[in-house]
Formats: sequence, C-alpha cells, structure tokens
Amino acid sequence: MTLDSVPQPNSPEARDIAYQMHPMVDQRRYEKTGGLVIERGEGVYVFDSSGKRYIEGLAGLWSVALGFGEKRLADVAYEQMQKLPYYHTFAYRTHGPAIDLAEKLVQISPEHLTRAHFTSSGSEANDLVVKMIWYRSNALGKPEKKKIIGRIKGYHGVTIAAGSVTGLPNNHRSFDLPLDRMIHTLTPDYWREAQEGESELDFSKRMAAALEEMILAEGPDTIAAMFGEPVMGAGGVIVPPEGYWAEIQAVLKKYDILLVADEVICGFGRTGKMFACETYDIRPDVMVLSKQISSSYMPLSAILISDDFYEPIADESHKIGVFGHGYTASGHPVATAVGLENVKIIEEKDLVGNAARLAPLFLSRLADLAKHPLAAASRGVGLLGALEIKPWETPNAAAAAVAEAMMEEGVICRNIGEALCFCPPLIITEEQVNAMFDGVATALDKVAAARAAAAAE
Ligand code: PMP
Repeated sequence: MTLDSVPQPNSPEARDIAYQMHPMVDQRRYEKTGGLVIERGEGVYVFDSSGKRYIEGLAGLWSVALGFGEKRLADVAYEQMQKLPYYHTFAYRTHGPAIDLAEKLVQISPEHLTRAHFTSSGSEANDLVVKMIWYRSNALGKPEKKKIIGRIKGYHGVTIAAGSVTGLPNNHRSFDLPLDRMIHTLTPDYWREAQEGESELDFSKRMAAALEEMILAEGPDTIAAMFGEPVMGAGGVIVPPEGYWAEIQAVLKKYDILLVADEVICGFGRTGKMFACETYDIRPDVMVLSKQISSSYMPLSAILISDDFYEPIADESHKIGVFGHGYTASGHPVATAVGLENVKIIEEKDLVGNAARLAPLFLSRLADLAKHPLAAASRGVGLLGALEIKPWETPNAAAAAVAEAMMEEGVICRNIGEALCFCPPLIITEEQVNAMFDGVATALDKVAAARAAAAAE
C-alpha cells in the first residue's frame, strides 16, 4: 500500500487504525491513511506486507547498525532469557550482563569516562542526566546552578526534562514545554545561517560569542550544563562547521559549565570513529549512548560519566542514604547481553572502519545528487548525511514528494523539513550505497518530470 491508499476492512492496517495510537504522527491523518506495515527484515533491507523490499536508508530510527537479521543477537537474547531473563540492579544487587557491558563501554570510550549507568531509551538517559546534574549542583552547595543550555533544533528526546532540552517546536507546542530552567542557543547551521562571505571558522566564533552572551545575560553561576549532539540528527543532520566544538568548549570551560555529548545517533561508528567525540575532539563530562548500542534489537541506553561528575553525586547519595533514582529495567540483563554482543560484532566486523571507508563514496554520491535541479545542497560525515531539496510553494512538500517517490524505488529515508536524511545500517556495502542513491536519483527525476507535466497542464 501507499501511505495515502485506504486500508481494507479487517486488514492489519485497518486494525492498526482501530486499536493503536501512534507516536509522531498527525492522529487525524493516520485515521485515514494508516501506516505501512513492515513485516520482516534482512541485512540492510526491510520488506512490507506485500513483500516489497526497501533499503532502510535510515537504519530504522538511525539505529540498526548491524542490519535487520543479525542472528547472534537473537541467540544471545535467547540464551540470556533462559539463564536469567530478568533481574534488577537496585538495592545492592547486580548481574553479569550489566557488569560486562559497563566494563566494555568504559574500555572503548574516552579514557576519562570511567563509569556507566544504564537506562532504556535516549529520552530516559538524557532526562536522568538532567536530574544527575541538579543533584550534583545541590551536592556541591550550588543550588542556584541548575539551568541547562540546549540548542534550537537540538534533539534529546521527549520526556519532560529531555524534551525541554530538545529545541524543536513540535516537541514543545501544547505540551507546556520547555521547563523554564532550559534555555536554547543557536543552531550551528552554516549552510542556512552564515552571513555573506563569512568563513566556517568565523561562523563558529559567532556561535560561541552568542553562547557567551547568553551565559552572561543569564548569570554564569545559574548555568550547570550544555547538551549537544556532536552532529545534530533529528534537527536535519546539521554537521558542525570548522572549529565549532573547540570554540564552544572554550566558552563552557571559562564559566565552569559541564558538557553533555548526546551520542545517541553518533555513537558506535556512525561518523567513522567509534564516537563522534573523537571525530570532533570533544571532551564531554557525560556521554549519552543508545540506538546503535544494541542496534535497537532491545531498548537500551547508557550514561557514561567522569570521576569528577560522579564523586559529588556519590557523596550526596551517602549523605541522604540512597541515590533515589532507578527503573525496573535499569541494566536489564537481556538488553545488556544483547548490547555487549552487538558491540563485539561492531568490533569484529570492523564496522567503524567500514563507515570510514565508505564515507567518501557516500558523501560524493550525495554531493552529485545535490546537482539535480530539485536539490539545493548536501552535507554529511561518515555514514550520516542529508540532501537538501529546494522548497516549493508549500513548505516541506518537495522533500515529502521525493521521499514518497523513493519508497516506490525501494528506498526508505527520513524527510525532515526540506532535508532528506540518510543514515544506513553500518553493515552497508559499496554496491548497496550505490543502489540506494541510484534509487534516490530515479525518484528525483520522476518527481521533476511529474512537476514539469503538472506545470504544463
Ligand atoms: N538523543 C538523540 C540525539 C536522538 O536522536 C534521540 C532519538 N532520535 C534521542 C536522544 C531520544 O531517544 P529515544 O527515542 O530512545 O528516547
């Protein structure tokens, strides 16, 4: 089916409309159109209920690093379910899978990050980091140091605190967000926002100056931390311009403000290094991981922290008698076992190297597509990229039309505003990168032809 066809009575599509309320849709539109039922997956491909095959150009939700058929993850989950399907990590209890994955993450992450804490989603992880930061400021006797800086178009999830740090209007509007302790600085979108003749470095300096101005206006002693995705994902794949992170980190350091690197999309090889903090020379106090940590086969996220971040929190919990936070599923044994196997496979298959090796092809194919009459520009790093489509009269309609035409060509991507975003599974091959972008090229041609025909009528 296409997204705009009417579902047959009693079909899965019709029952879906009847019984499920979906995330991230226009509910009234969904009632009419329903959704595309995806039935199975294999490698970089998924298949819909009619059997049509698609290359998953966004790896699900920027997440299925190993593709859709990694049997080893299924085997590990099965074995763990038989051995110890559930246990918790509360109240002086622990278990092997959580210990093993924590050790592994500490080993592969930047050296100064020395402990891992587990949650189940990116939103939960970022929400907890906000709580940890507030708890830590109280522990340090700085109860006024609580404000959190996010960025316009930044995405850190949708729970109340994480959603407040997110800087996208649709995640705030009508939800009574953001909380008033959360403030937002500029988006480092050089392509859209640079002034005439401004170099990338000058633009980055201007972003840092705007940040400093905001900190001074708010009062440096009131600001605890800044959150940032090394490369912005859900805001439309916005790659930081030259010097951006160095300039931003210098400002944060000057005012004793923590940096939280949200590596939920970038982590585990996406940018061609294990973590984007290595790609951009970022030294975060906290690193947040999810998605590719388990290839999303199980819900899992992790917060990696430095000793300096941990120590005051540990002292405060000792004073109170408990760190009063945790979830039933914190460090879930099946999720952490799957996560560990997933990280081992990323290492064994050198998928970080695969992303680095295929990046020049991936980025040059995107750059070629940007020469199409319907396209305006391209950008990217590693295996994360976007093709900007020239706007039509109705905002976002052009990119939506191309994305729809791509589905017909068997390619799934995500259209965010006017940007078509690509983030394929890390197992993708050279041939599959070419097939994916051949499909995009055909879709662009077909949409251009249809638009020309409509204009001629
Ligand atoms: N942070 C980033 C950078 C993300 O891209 C996302 C999800 N797209 C989240 C946090 C939230 O993760 P989740 O959907 O698992 O709550």
